[in-house]
Amino acid sequence: MYVLVINAGSSSLKYQLLDMSNENLLAKGLCERIGIDGRLVHETTGKPKHTVDTAMPDHGAAIAIVLDTLVDAELGAIGSKDEIKAVGHRVVHGGETFTNSALITDEVFAAIDKNSELAPLHNPANLTGIKACQQNMPGVPNVAVFDTAFHQTMPAKAYLYPIPYEMYDKHKIRKYGFHGTSHKFVSARAAEMLGKPAKDLKIVTCHLGNGASVCAVDGGISVDTSMGLTPLEGLAMGTRSGDLDPAVIPFIMEKENLTAQQVLDMFNKKSGMLGLSGVSSDFRDLADAMDTNPRAKDALDIFAYRVAGYIGRYAAGMNGIDAVVFTAGIGENDTYIREKVCEYLTWLGVDIDLEKNSKRGQALDVSKPSAKTRVLVVPTNEELVIARDTKSILG
Ligand code: ADP
Repeated sequence: MYVLVINAGSSSLKYQLLDMSNENLLAKGLCERIGIDGRLVHETTGKPKHTVDTAMPDHGAAIAIVLDTLVDAELGAIGSKDEIKAVGHRVVHGGETFTNSALITDEVFAAIDKNSELAPLHNPANLTGIKACQQNMPGVPNVAVFDTAFHQTMPAKAYLYPIPYEMYDKHKIRKYGFHGTSHKFVSARAAEMLGKPAKDLKIVTCHLGNGASVCAVDGGISVDTSMGLTPLEGLAMGTRSGDLDPAVIPFIMEKENLTAQQVLDMFNKKSGMLGLSGVSSDFRDLADAMDTNPRAKDALDIFAYRVAGYIGRYAAGMNGIDAVVFTAGIGENDTYIREKVCEYLTWLGVDIDLEKNSKRGQALDVSKPSAKTRVLVVPTNEELVIARDTKSILG
C-alpha cells in the first residue's frame, strides 16, 4: 500500500511517498513559495535531487505538480497516481475533539476548521492541503494525524492553567501540547531499545528542533508536556521565547508602543536563541560563535538549563524516570547540548559516556553501563507515524 504523507504550511507543502508493505521511503520533496511564485525540490530514492521553479498559484496547483513528478518517467517513483491508496495529513491542532487520528469526512473537516481559532497559522493551511488532495485525487481517502492527539491523555493537573475556570469552560484555554507524533514514536522506539514493555517505563522525551518540547511519558502515554495552548510555551527555542512572566507583554507594549500581536510576533519570531545571541537561531552557528561571543554562549546555556529543568520537573511529576530520550535536529546532532543537559542530571542517576555521546544522528544508548537512568538518542520520523496511522485507520 502506497501512502502519500502531506505537511501543508501556509506557503509550503512537504511530502513523502511511502511503501507501507515494508515502510520504505519511495520519494520526498518540498513545494515552496506557493501563492508567490513556486519552487519544487523533489527526490526519488536512488535518483538525483531535482529542483525546478514553476508557477504554484495555490496548494491545488502544488499537489498537481507533485503528482505529475511522482509519475514522471525520468524523475518519478511510481507508474500511475492510482497506485497511491491513501493520503495522511499532518494537522497541528485537534483541540479536545481528537484523541486519535481520524478519517477525514465532512464532519471531521468541519471540526478541524472549528479548531482553527486555536491554531490560526496552522490549521487553515493544513485544511488547504486536504482540499488540494481531495480535488486532485478524487476517491482516495484522506486521514488527519494531529500533533496534539498524543497529549490528550494528560490529567487535569497537567493541562489546566491556574486562571479562572471559566476561561477553560468558555474558551477551551488549556495546555494542549504539540510534536505528539514525534514524542509517541521516539518513546515507543526507546522502549524497544531498552527491551521493556512501554507500560513499565517512565520516560522523558526531548524533541529539540527549531520548535522544541519535552514530554513526560508514563506507561506509554503522555502525562505532561512543555508546549501549551500554542507552541510558544515551554523551552527557549530557535526564535521563540518559551516560558516567561505574562506581565512582560503589557510592559513591552507600553515601553515600545506595540500591539499585543506585535509583541507575540516578537516572542515567536525574534526571541529564543536568535533574540538572545543576536547571531542566529541555528545551533551550529551558535556553537561556532560561542568561544568569542558571550551572548551566543549564554543562549546555549539558557537552552540547556531549561531543558534540564523540565526533565527534573517531569522526573518529580512521575516520581522517578527510567530514561531520557533526545530527538529532532538538535537532540539527534548537537552533542554539546546533550552533554550540557546531562551535567544537570547526575542526581537522577544519569551518567553518559562522552565517547558514545560524540556520535550524531543514530539510535544509541549513550549512557555508561552502570548508569541508573538511561540516556538515548532516537532519530524521529513523524512522516512514518503519519503513514502508519493512515494505514491502520483504513484497516
Ligand atoms: P524543525 O523540524 O523544527 O524545523 P529540526 O528538527 O530539523 O527542526 O531541527 C533544526 C535545528 O537542528 C537547526 O536549527 C539546527 O539548530 C539543529 N541542527 C541540525 N543539525 C545540527 C548539527 N549537526 N549540530 C547542531 N545542531 C544541529
